[in-house]
Amino acid sequence: EKVDIKKSIQTIYDKFYEQTKNKNLEFVLEIDENIKDIYTDLEKLKQIINNLLSNAIKFTNKGQIRLKVKNENEFIKINIEDDGIGIAQENLNEIFERFKQVDSSTTRKYGGTGLGLAISKELCKLLDIKIDVKSELNKGTTFELLLPKNLKNEIKNSIKNEEKIDSFENIKLEN
Ligand code: ATP
Ligand code: MG
Repeated sequence: EKVDIKKSIQTIYDKFYEQTKNKNLEFVLEIDENIKDIYTDLEKLKQIINNLLSNAIKFTNKGQIRLKVKNENEFIKINIEDDGIGIAQENLNEIFERFKQVDSSTTRKYGGTGLGLAISKELCKLLDIKIDVKSELNKGTTFELLLPKNLKNEIKNSIKNEEKIDSFENIKLEN
């Protein structure tokens, strides 16, 4: 479906605001003026950003969380940045694996099952979103999402087909 990125991001920001406030974190929102609607699957996109924001808040004890949306050539770039505990370089390439958590003490301290990023990565693949991470230990982490403004027909059709199945099942349920 056509998605109003500005409105959707604002809604996500509002949803997470309380959590950041409870942890005394500053939550900054920056959205470029001229962000156009794009074709994508809003439910999946929300799940990706929710996972990344949940992590940012979980692994940050003081400072800021930043949610930024920018035009970048043929992409819309969404950054989720934090001033948290960071991830060591040697662990950066494994965090997208299932059940992977940087160390067992992390699990004890911060909870979770290590699935959020593995799921996010799969969802990004379905929506043709590039996901990238940069981090510095004890300084913070940035996740970057690049959403194509013009989705490949192949991807668009698979999203459309899924929507058709959804609405078909809804009809069946209603009758
Ligand atoms: P779940 O998401 O299933 O609740 P989780 O948050 O531990 O559990 P992932 O979201 O997959 O799992 O993240 C995997 C690991 O990557 C985390 O356990 C943590 O070690 C590291 N990590 C992810 N995001 C951040 C971040 N913003 N700052 C520091 N470490 C992070
Ligand atoms: Mg997580």
